[in-house]
Amino acid sequence: MRGRAFLILVVFVGLLLPTPVPAGPAERSVLVLDQSSAGLPFNTAVASAIRSTMNAGSKSPISFFSEHLDANRFFGPEYENDFVQFLKAKYRERHIDAVIVFGVSALDFITRHREQLWPSVPVVFAAIDEATMLRRTLSNNVTGATMQLALQDMVKVARIVMPNLKAVAIVGDPLERQTFFRHFIDELPAVEAQVEIVNLMDLPLADLAKRLAVLPDNTAVLYTGIYFTSDGVSYIPAELTSQIAQWANRPVVVTASSYLNKGAIGGYIVQSHPIGQQAGHMALRILAGESASDIPVAKVPSQLTFDWPALQRWKINESHLPPSAQIVFREPTVWERYSWQIGLVSVVILLQGALILGLLREYRRRRFAEVQSRQSMAELARVMRFSTAGELTALMAHELNQPLGAILTNAETAKVILKSPVPDIAELSEIVEDIWRDDHRAGEVIRRMKSFLKKAPFELKNFDLNDVARETLVVASSLAVGRKVELTHLITQNELPILGDRIQIQQVILNLVVNGIDAMRDAPMESRTISVRTSLTEKFAELSVSDRGPGIPESKLKEVFEPFFTSKAEGMGMGLSIARTIVEAHHGQIWAKNRDHGGASFRVRLPLT
Ligand code: ADP
Repeated sequence: MRGRAFLILVVFVGLLLPTPVPAGPAERSVLVLDQSSAGLPFNTAVASAIRSTMNAGSKSPISFFSEHLDANRFFGPEYENDFVQFLKAKYRERHIDAVIVFGVSALDFITRHREQLWPSVPVVFAAIDEATMLRRTLSNNVTGATMQLALQDMVKVARIVMPNLKAVAIVGDPLERQTFFRHFIDELPAVEAQVEIVNLMDLPLADLAKRLAVLPDNTAVLYTGIYFTSDGVSYIPAELTSQIAQWANRPVVVTASSYLNKGAIGGYIVQSHPIGQQAGHMALRILAGESASDIPVAKVPSQLTFDWPALQRWKINESHLPPSAQIVFREPTVWERYSWQIGLVSVVILLQGALILGLLREYRRRRFAEVQSRQSMAELARVMRFSTAGELTALMAHELNQPLGAILTNAETAKVILKSPVPDIAELSEIVEDIWRDDHRAGEVIRRMKSFLKKAPFELKNFDLNDVARETLVVASSLAVGRKVELTHLITQNELPILGDRIQIQQVILNLVVNGIDAMRDAPMESRTISVRTSLTEKFAELSVSDRGPGIPESKLKEVFEPFFTSKAEGMGMGLSIARTIVEAHHGQIWAKNRDHGGASFRVRLPLT
């Protein structure tokens, strides 16, 4: 019983205790030993590529440590020894699983001191040129990737951009003091055999600027890197590229990606990212258990690269470059830069074009309709004239009677005179004169009638409203006489120039006069008067027709202009409607009002030209 209770207690306590977390993959430590000082753009980019490649490919967390030999500025056995002691002290408590060395000075350092620091730690080297590596024997548990960095390649590039190359001016720290470019010393004899070498190394910057500005024709500048000048000032070599390219009166050839986009023409460029990636991959294999000695040495190729703005500066045609060359920092064309804006503007222009086309078509359609409506209006006006024609014809026949009767009387008198033994020639000539005048009068009556009924197309012309009023009054006066109405007029002295169709305006005036005559049908004789007046008001030509009839009921003053509105048994109710259409087509106005002492007054206003 006691035993069972104890078991339960053990299980219960066991449940309460925290469950042990299963151990994850052990943390690994990688040291990146850079031969240069900290903060150089190229080296920083390589280190970052190493870290990202390894973090992405490793299951266990990796601690990265970085150390900088700064071998361009600090060297000698004593310095090296102190550095070893520093590293030993610093990493006493740390196990380093792999060392990645950056540059040949770092490889040489680790080769010399590995046993003392981290015995037989695997080593991966990066950023060491092929030629330098060929002269070294790899110690145990070391691998890495070489890069392509040769003085002759720089000369080759100089010759691409300058086919008549005669000299190269080398700018940088003295080669023997350099880390990345020291092996160029071995290439000098071969280069000297091809071109003249102008030594611009180890100069204070002020002197260098002066020398670079006056380089002779067919000379190219080969810039390796300035870490510090003879006057002891330190620089970041990639950053000096801009100034060197600015000072130089000739193209500047460089070797690394961090020296690009600063005015140099380009070169066989070593790229930071593939170098870091390659080193990272190799270190990963080592952390996974492979021996460095089993991993063959690899090569990271350089890429022949040209800087587009510099090609423009030196007016170098792209077609003269080898097909394998890549051109970087190309300024995008206007199309590339603004493609969507251009697209949008084009669409807007197209839409606008389509809209304009549509509107033009619509405009043409409306013009056509307008012309058609004007023609129908002219037709209708003519029909209206025909409706007055009957009455007018009777009146005109009456008018014709008078001259014809006179002609007959005169002809008979002439006959009698001619029968006398001595005809009176003077009287005969007077009679002939009378016959001629009467014939003209009769002819004039017929001409008026003809022109009144003539078919005329709509026609815009400049004319004086006074003239048209006078012409119409001649026709209307026949009607007035027939209906025993007095037709008076008061034509202004002012000119009333308007633009319009003469016949149609005539039609409007005649309509108003005929309506006035009609309205006074039952009026007493003495008050049957119609007066037609013209005047100049503001910017308008005005014409009024006033009668002494019964006027228009106030409520109908507007309605009378509606089609088919009539108060006459035989009326059509179209006269005023047509008059309004004609006046509006001439951009004018027409309205009616009643006169104070009886009668209606119609007023037409037309814009002056
Ligand atoms: P219609 O003469 O065939 O009737 P109109 O359109 O010319 O057609 O005139 C419409 C109507 O307006 C007339 O029937 C008449 O009632 C009225 N009207 C026109 N002019 C006058 C006027 N001077 N005095 C009184 N009424 C008028």
